[in-house]
Amino acid sequence: MFYRMSRAMKSEKGFLKSEKGFTLVELMVVVIIIGILVAIAIPVYNNVSKNAAEKACLANQRTLSGAVQQYRTVEGALPASLETLASDYVVEKPICPVDSTATYSMDATTGLVTCTHGTTPPE
Ligand SMILES: [Zn+2]
Repeated sequence: MFYRMSRAMKSEKGFLKSEKGFTLVELMVVVIIIGILVAIAIPVYNNVSKNAAEKACLANQRTLSGAVQQYRTVEGALPASLETLASDYVVEKPICPVDSTATYSMDATTGLVTCTHGTTPPE
């Protein structure tokens, strides 16, 4: 019994002695690799977020254009402004996800809706 205990303690000591940690250079290499991956990932993430906001703005423009055409079908003429569509044709006027200060406006002759932040829907 005593032999077993002392052998276990010796092997535990031996285990601890033979275990080496990481060197400073190894840790620095890992940190540099992580830094490079983060430096690649952040611009990609930002680009994906910006593209998603642009697509959401285009979807808002198409939704409003659809509501304008629905208004034209029902009322026989284009609405005077997008505010005319409120509650009957659009639940609420959407806010541009790219620039919250931008507004949606309607072309008085075609009824095509555009956003003042710059993105125009494909015809
Ligand atoms: Zn917009």
